[in-house]
Amino acid sequence: MMRAALPPNESARLATLLSFDILDSPAETEFDDLTRLASQICETPIALISLIDADRQWFKSRVGLDAGATPRELAFCSHAILADDVMVVQNATDDVRFADNPLVEGDPGIRFYAGMPLTAKDGNHMGTLCVIDRVPRTLSAMQIGALRTLGRQVVRQMELRIASRRLARESAFRQTILNSAAESIISTTPEGIITTFSRGSEKLLGYKAAELVGKCTPAIIHDPAEVAAHAARLTEELGRPVEPGFEAFVAKAHGGGSETREWTYIRRDGTRVPVLLSVSEVADEKGAVLGFIGVARDITELKCAQADLERLAAELTRSNRDLEHFASIASHDLQEPLRMVTGYMDLLGRRYRGRLDAQADEFIGFALDGAKRMKTLIRDLLAYSRIGTREKVCESVAMSRPIDLALENLKLVIAEKQAEISVGPMPAISADPVLLTQLFQNLIGNALKFAGKETPRIAITARRGEGEWIFSVADKGIGIEDKYLVRIFEIFHRLHSREEYPGTGIGLALCKRIVEIHGGRIWAESEPHRGSVFHFSLPTDEGKD
Ligand code: ADP
Repeated sequence: MMRAALPPNESARLATLLSFDILDSPAETEFDDLTRLASQICETPIALISLIDADRQWFKSRVGLDAGATPRELAFCSHAILADDVMVVQNATDDVRFADNPLVEGDPGIRFYAGMPLTAKDGNHMGTLCVIDRVPRTLSAMQIGALRTLGRQVVRQMELRIASRRLARESAFRQTILNSAAESIISTTPEGIITTFSRGSEKLLGYKAAELVGKCTPAIIHDPAEVAAHAARLTEELGRPVEPGFEAFVAKAHGGGSETREWTYIRRDGTRVPVLLSVSEVADEKGAVLGFIGVARDITELKCAQADLERLAAELTRSNRDLEHFASIASHDLQEPLRMVTGYMDLLGRRYRGRLDAQADEFIGFALDGAKRMKTLIRDLLAYSRIGTREKVCESVAMSRPIDLALENLKLVIAEKQAEISVGPMPAISADPVLLTQLFQNLIGNALKFAGKETPRIAITARRGEGEWIFSVADKGIGIEDKYLVRIFEIFHRLHSREEYPGTGIGLALCKRIVEIHGGRIWAESEPHRGSVFHFSLPTDEGKD
């Protein structure tokens, strides 16, 4: 007896065989049918599907033989897998490889053998489909042809078996994911018939999957009026008729798209629930539509939170307005007693200066100074609080006009400091001219005030942005450290003591409000000791939403 050589790619061959996960599996009709056919067509009492493991041949299917496996060194198939086509042994007793093989000399007394290698896609031969007889004989060309075909069918079955097991495993995973998701997940056929109704859907809607799957479309859980309204909207938007049924849910998902929007689901008990529903098309790799999948989410809490937020925002607006109103009235009413204090202090100063002692003169000076500061503070506070309550005027303003007015209001300081001020070309923009004068006056006023020891040099420019104009007031003054560039716009936030630079800390907060009322932004850039630039944007008419 001659032992078969090991195939040159034995370890890869074994790996391929193991990847089919078929060794020692129970008998399966699909394979037994093929063996039976082989035995009938080849007219042999024995037919086997033999798989060559490391040291045994194991039979996945067998006709006419009891043994489940034999040692590999005895197997005819060990020889057959060395060839690429059917191996035929007409009479084993005449063949040196098999003459003294115990399977020839003893049970089952093999004389005739024909084995078709079972070739995997990677070219490895995993075993054979073989037919065996106890008497010497041959096979007709037709029988050999049939054996080849059946051998290929055995491999096909092995592939199908492993693929369907993989599919079953994946589908179990998918099912578990589907059922553990808190969201409602519903899938449908391309026509809309429900194919999956997840646990999340059952919980949210009160229907059991079995009640809906294969029976109806998701229209059953929708508000017909809402669906009709959406279909009408889509008809207009897409320029084609969209039926007020299933099509309204998926019209936008066609062609691989998806749509996420709010819908109202209606539960089995008739109660309604707001949801955020994402609908996507499911297609195979060739683009054929397999169906649609809708995922949801109950947004009742979100809706409540949104309503709470809106209520809070409204309350905040109201209380802000109340506060502004209060500040406006309070600062207005403070002016009157303040005028009285200032008036009498002034009188006291003029009448009694030099007639009391030196300290009294100093005290009167302090009091007058304090009253003056209070007057400025109240004036600025009044201006600040009035912005919110003021009826907003909007007219086309040539921006050079508010700048001229601001410069006019500041002319004494400008002359005193011999400031050099340049104004670039200005556009006309729709805005409130009084507020813009105030805005420029504050920014130019600061540029003059924080000029340092040098002659103030100020440049006012405008440039076009996207949907907006950006105005800038640049100075060469003392500058601002980076870390304060945002905080300076907060009310009362100042970086210097009153002795260093007078002021109330309201100016930039006022600027911010004016700009924001116009729908713009304000920000500053600066380098300490080199100067600052204050920019603000105002939307153009096409930039306003
Ligand atoms: P005020 O000028 O009354 O102090 P503002 O609100 O106008 O108040 O400004 C806040 C602070 O921002 C100022 O106290 C100053 O420290 C800083 N600041 C504003 N403008 C300039 C500027 N052009 N250069 C340097 N610092 C500035």
